Amino acid sequence: MGVFDAIGSEHHQSVHFGMDPASGLRSIIAIHSTVLGPALGGTRFYPYKSERDALDDVLRLSKGMTYKAACAGLRLGGGKAVIIGDPSEIGSDDLFLAYGRFVESLGGQYITAEDVGTTVANMEIVATQTRYVRGLLDEHCGSGDPSPATAHGVAAAQRAVAARLWGSQDLVGKRIAIKGVGKVGMALVEILSGYGAELIVADVKTTATEVAAREYGAKVVDVDEIHHVECEIFAPCALGGGLNERTIPELRCAAVVGSANNQLAVEDDGDRLRAAGILYAPDFVVNAGGIINIAAEEGGYSPDKANAMVERIFDNLTEILTTADRLDIGTHTAAEHVAEERIAAAATMEA
Ligand code: NAD
Repeated sequence: MGVFDAIGSEHHQSVHFGMDPASGLRSIIAIHSTVLGPALGGTRFYPYKSERDALDDVLRLSKGMTYKAACAGLRLGGGKAVIIGDPSEIGSDDLFLAYGRFVESLGGQYITAEDVGTTVANMEIVATQTRYVRGLLDEHCGSGDPSPATAHGVAAAQRAVAARLWGSQDLVGKRIAIKGVGKVGMALVEILSGYGAELIVADVKTTATEVAAREYGAKVVDVDEIHHVECEIFAPCALGGGLNERTIPELRCAAVVGSANNQLAVEDDGDRLRAAGILYAPDFVVNAGGIINIAAEEGGYSPDKANAMVERIFDNLTEILTTADRLDIGTHTAAEHVAEERIAAAATMEA
């Protein structure tokens, strides 16, 4: 498929290529949609094998941001940026200054933030060249690390699923298995232990599971075991792709509700979960707390305001589960349906 076919196939609005030979910057910014508002999405810095791989990744990720923002009910569109290369080799201040000028040249259609391979410190440098950066440090009126907000959103989604499956959002005594106790997973452990849930955790880093066991009384199991622990909710909070043809038949949970991005290895895995009688809460709805936290910077950030906005994930997910039931479709498809309806309604109002 040619470059223009790739861009056209998912109806991207525009794609921009930026380079600065002096610093080695080679970057692509993809704007999937600005119908609901400016396109917000992080900057991924990664040593892609080819320019084509980088283009495919930025197209896929920017489309995902459109759906995530729409399902979260935000007045934001979807965009994403990639920088090609190894951040430890070429991630100089000069490169981030040049990147900041590239973002500024788009006049606010695209708003950036940190992502895999970039840090808040990098974004502070970008912010010297452009206003269109979010998620900066508190001293610059930014919302800082989004992970606690993401964890709050996951907990809200788990309560929504509990309300749907067991008639009460109360998680007291519910067995919840968490794969990955990093920034989001550990914050989730803290929230859920406060709710009185029974926690089982696994992580490749034993230092992390030791903290979860010692501080929050979590039971620790092996990383290969966690997905088939008998429990009410399985929460993938490590890497994506964990729900696949091999693992789904091994699950012994009633629902999957976690923060990891791209949990389904392929789209069909959503149907596979449904056929197995497992309620899957779509990852991009569940893990929207981070982007909502960033959106809360608009008009002045405060943790209370951000928390109230993140809590809406409860209602957003409930609407998607209701839509899935009504149309007799999978939850993943229902989430896309809700997002597309919101975008279509906004486009009609604009016209
Ligand atoms: P993190 O790197 O802090 O934590 C990930 C944890 O998973 C680490 O402790 C790591 O050791 C562990 N891990 C890696 N491979 C594992 C395996 N095979 N089995 C068990 N544990 C394993 O990352 P994070 O910021 O907590 O993000 C977790 C997930 O949530 C990622 O998929 C991320 O894309 C997604 N997410 C995060 C945010 C956020 O605000 N941080 C927002 C949206 C989505």
